[in-house]
Formats: sequence, C-alpha cells, structure tokens
Amino acid sequence: MIGISKDIQYLKGIGEKRAELFRKKGIKTVEDLLYYFPRSHEDRSQMKEIADCVEGETVCVSVTVFSPVKDARVRRNLLVSTMIVSDSTGALNVVWYNNRYVKGQFMTGDEYILYGKITKSRGKKEMINPVFEKKGTSRFTGKIVPLYPLTEGLTQKIVQSAMEFAIKEAGSLEEYIPDEIRKQYHIAEINYAMKNIHFPEDFDSYNIARERFVFEELLILQLALSSRKDENTIKDSVKFDDILCVRDFVKTLPFPLTGAQKRTLNEILSDCKSGKMMNRLVQGDVGSGKTAVAAAAIYTAVKNGHQAAMMVPTEILALQHAQTLTEFFAGMNINVVMLTGSMKAKEKRLAYDMISTGAADVVVGTHAIIQDTVGFSDLALVVADEQHRFGVEQRAKLAAKGNNPHMLIMSATPIPRTLALILYGDLDISVIDELPPGRKSVKTYAVGESMRKRVFAFLEKNVSNGMQAYVVCPLVAETEKSDLQNAEMLAEKLQSIFTSFNIGLMHGKMKPKLKEAVMDEFVRGAIQILVSTTVIEVGVNVPNANIMIVENAERFGLSQLHQLRGRVGRGGEQAYCILIAHGNNEVTKKRMETMCISNDGFYISEQDLQIRGPGDFFGTRQHGLPEMKIANMFEDRDILAVSQMAAKEIMEEDPKMESDKYKKLRKRADRIINSDIVMN
Ligand code: ADP
Ligand code: MG
Repeated sequence: MIGISKDIQYLKGIGEKRAELFRKKGIKTVEDLLYYFPRSHEDRSQMKEIADCVEGETVCVSVTVFSPVKDARVRRNLLVSTMIVSDSTGALNVVWYNNRYVKGQFMTGDEYILYGKITKSRGKKEMINPVFEKKGTSRFTGKIVPLYPLTEGLTQKIVQSAMEFAIKEAGSLEEYIPDEIRKQYHIAEINYAMKNIHFPEDFDSYNIARERFVFEELLILQLALSSRKDENTIKDSVKFDDILCVRDFVKTLPFPLTGAQKRTLNEILSDCKSGKMMNRLVQGDVGSGKTAVAAAAIYTAVKNGHQAAMMVPTEILALQHAQTLTEFFAGMNINVVMLTGSMKAKEKRLAYDMISTGAADVVVGTHAIIQDTVGFSDLALVVADEQHRFGVEQRAKLAAKGNNPHMLIMSATPIPRTLALILYGDLDISVIDELPPGRKSVKTYAVGESMRKRVFAFLEKNVSNGMQAYVVCPLVAETEKSDLQNAEMLAEKLQSIFTSFNIGLMHGKMKPKLKEAVMDEFVRGAIQILVSTTVIEVGVNVPNANIMIVENAERFGLSQLHQLRGRVGRGGEQAYCILIAHGNNEVTKKRMETMCISNDGFYISEQDLQIRGPGDFFGTRQHGLPEMKIANMFEDRDILAVSQMAAKEIMEEDPKMESDKYKKLRKRADRIINSDIVMN
C-alpha cells in the first residue's frame, strides 16, 4: 500500500513517460487519479456462446485460439490481421486493421475472453478490433468497465489498469463527510463510492456512487463559497435616512417603472436604510432597465448627502453611462464626473480634486476608481458590473475609501435561481424578471455559409434605408490558422462590397481613445456598419442599430450571443439578429435553435447549462467557478438543492468548521479556495 498522497509514478505500470501524460491532465498523485472519474461505462458483463451471437450486438465470448494471427498487406497503407477462434458452439473470425502488435500475441490453444461487436462477412461471424485478455484475468472483460477521457498517448487500458492499482494501493480512504450528514441525506460511504464509481458491480451501485461524489463536490464548493462571505452582511455602513426622496427622481423618468424595477429598487433602498452594509446582486435580462434602477439608488445616495460611484468594465461604457446619468440627473444639481485610465494626467488630477472635496457627487469610471490615488470625501454606494466582483482585497480598498460603502452589483447574465444562490452565495439577490412593455423581440435567424449572399443583400437593403448594423467576429486578426472570419479582414471585405457605406472596425487591442472615436462615429451615424469583436458585448446603446450579424456564431456561448443580440432592438424599429454558424453538428444546431426560438435570457442561460458547447457557461469559467469534475449543475439540480441544505446546516452549526466533525471538510474547502482558480 502506498497511500493517496504519493506520486502516481509509484503505481505499477506507470513510468516517467506515462506519469507525464497523466500530469497533462492535472493528475499528479494517487488521489488525483482516484478523482479522475470515468466519462461512461461499458457493460461487458454479458457472456455469450458464439452460436448465440447475433449480428450487431456487442458481447463477450470465451474462446480458444484455433488458428493464430496471419498478416496480409492489402495495400501499402492497409495491414489486415486475422485469427480464427472457437468455442464449443462455433467459430469466429477476429480481424484487426493496421495493428502491428497482435501478430505473435496468440498461440493455438490459448484461451481468451474477447469483447467486441459481432459483424458478418461472407456469411461468417466476425469481430473487428476486439478488447481481449487471457481467460481468468477478468480485468477488462466480464464486467462493467469504466471509460475515461483520454489524451494522446493514453489508452483506455492504461488508465483502467492504473485505476485498478490506485484503488488497491490507496488503502482505506478517510471519510470526510460526517456520518450524521451521510445518514440524513443518504450519501454512500467513500470507500464503497470510490470503488463503484470506477468499477461498479452493477449500474445501481454506480448511481449510488456517483450521487455521493456529486454531493461531495457541490457541498465542498458551497462551503468554500460561503467562507468567502466575510462578515459583510453584518458590517455597519452608512445609513440613508431619507429614502422616500427617490420618488422625486422616479417622477422625472419618461416612463413608469415596471413592477420588477420597483420591487428591486425597494429592496435596494431598504438595505441602504438599514445601517448594515448592502451586498446585493441585481439580475436582469438585457434591456430590463437595470440602469434606471441603479440611477435611482445613486440619486438617493446623493440626496442623502453622500457620494456614489459606478464601475464599468470599459472606457466606452464609462462614457455612455456618464452621459446617461448626466441626462437622468439634469437640473437636479448632481455633479457627475468621469474617471478612466486613459484620461490625461491633468484631467485626472482635476477629477481627483473633485472627488476628494466632494464636488463630484457621482463618479463613473473604470477600475481607475479604486486606485490608491483616489480619495473620496464620503463614498456611500458603489454600483459595479458583474465583472467587478470584488475580492477580499479590493473590498478592503473600497471600504477604506468610504465607510463600508453599500455594494450593488449588476448582472446581465440571468441564471437559474438555484445556481445564482451558489455562485452568489455571499450576496442578496434581486431579479428584474420583466421587460418594459411594448418591446419588440429581436427576430433571430441561424444560417450557414451558403446564405451569405442573401445576408449581405439584406444588410445592404436595411442600411440603405438608414439603419445601422453590427457585425461581430470571434477574433481580432489572423492567428496561426484561421477559417474564422476575423474582424480586420471582414471589415476590408465589407468595405469593398459596400462601397457607398462607411465600415468601422473595433476590437479589444485598439487604444481606448481610438475605440471611443470609432464608437462615437457609430453613435453619430457616420459609420453605418461596425465590424467588431465582442468588445461591444456589454451595455453599449445605439438605438439606430437594428441588425446584429454574428460570424462563427458556433464559437460563442449562448448567454454571450444573447448579450450581443441585446445590442440591437433598442430603438422602435424591428431588429434582426443573424447568426452565421459553421459546421452542422447536433450541439451547434440545438444551440442555434435555442437562440432562434427564445428571447428570454433566463431560458437561454438554462439551455446554455444544459446543451454544453464551446464557450458555455462553465467552459468559459466566466463565473470564476472551479471546473466541475463530476457534477452537472443542470442535470444534478436535485442533488444541488440537497447539498445546499447540508451546507447551510453546517454553516449554521459551525461557521468556521473548526470542530472535529467538520475539520476534514474544511480542509477540502480550503483547497478550492487556495487553488489557482480562486473565486474572485
Ligand atoms: P439594461 O441595462 O438592463 O440592459 P437599460 O437600463 O439600458 O437596460 O434599459 C434599456 C432601455 O429601456 C433604456 O433605453 C431605458 O431608458 C429603457 N427603460 C428602462 N426602464 C424602462 C421602463 N420601465 N419603461 C420603459 N422603458 C424603460
Ligand atoms: Mg445596461
């Protein structure tokens, strides 16, 4: 027995070379290997006699070698090896293609178990490229066998047998989920589960084992997340004495707030009145009117005599939001100041002065806002984008700038409630689940490359009629190999096709000032078609743009496509979104279909979870979650709910998990927190 913390190189059959291959998969220790779960299992438990084998079925047969392997080189690049085996009921041809190793492996009279699919050739039963092992070994046949995700150089047999040794050599595993919890939630014991997740006796045992590890993974994740909660919710913060003044602001809006906006605003303001620090996430689909709600909260902060800050991810957005807020607050004696990294030193200094003296009531800016050089006179509210989920350090910085300012985080990626509770376990959540009335939904079409001519014709017609369009591509410039439309090339191409239009180009590698200039031209209508990477994804508002074309749409996450689509349809005109997708696989088809049938961000994000694909919700790690080894947030939502209850109970009983009972779990949770994918 070598234990679980040893390097896998100590396992039989794993030398330096193979260990390196495993390391590529993040597997260094025996324990890592044990937690490398199979992607599926193959039922090789069914034994049949040759006479009973039916064409098309996949079975095990117990046979004797009748005539050993003969090689025949059929073509220069095709080697066919054949062998004849038999049992008491009949004979079977065994065939391998281009396998130089089978010759000489088998001797007449040897007894083997073969596993493979039965086919027929010239009336004779045949098995092509079977799994085989000597009778009596029973490692790869005669039972349910795990199949693992592989990398180049690793075969199923290598991983399977390494796993077998690992389970043997690991010895008795330490249980870290307390018995009490296991009993309460019917969770299998770890040694039983470990054996049966890899080498189950039957599929029931496998399911029981799998449930345990899903539960374990989700439980530990949640414990890790809640320990980041730091005591924000009980920290004292600025108290807004007068929250009713918000009515004066709401009155001036050109529209009545929706019910969902009102509810959300109430939740925010009662937090601000409580004297305890607010930590609230507002989730709302694109166009649900988050900005108006944020503006109302900012207004209230200012009218209570404090300062407010709004943090956005890009300079363009800073500019737009500064403009929007200035318009909202026109004639209200509220001074909005902008602060971004690309401002000239002199401009910055002026902004700093205004911020520190309190002459600036509202500061809109990028990350520049939390630089050390910025001192507020009385910061009481910070509105931030989801991308600015603050880590402990940044929080401390922010708190130092004010008196534990209230935090309002805005998210335009609506996600199912259960999941939100996990991802944002440390926040209170408000949901704006209603769009302002009278919104036309964006008509969405998914097309293939063959439709490009028609797409361009459609584009030409609409732009000629005075509309504007976005064309979004996944990449900036040609990289190594690229069948992807890239922004620069596409802009050139479009310019050569549409000679009478102005085509603009914008991408992440451009200087902020240049981006701003391009965006400005687009807003003014001097540019009719803006070719861009996803930098326009978040928040920009150009009401006259009503066409969104996405190149290589299959490369984007659904939530991301939905965000992009949200850039159009902001004026009164019918808007269109055309997704040009390449490749015809089922996943792509389903994903595109989802976009075409739904305009509902919650539904789409749910689908994003379910039909995983490139750039999917978890794939992109856009939420800073560690990669799940076994749990599927969507399919395992029942276990998710149960593990949530368990996590809550534990946190209530022993928030720091210091007792003997929870110490081991705590260690596991700490590992996630300390891993490189630290949740921000
Ligand atoms: P989000 O930030 O949630 O994507 P915005 O705040 O940018 O959405 O709002 C989108 C558009 O809807 C803006 O033009 C805004 O003025 C308008 N709007 C917001 N709330 C309402 C409402 N209750 N009724 C009508 N229009 C609204
Ligand atoms: Mg917005």
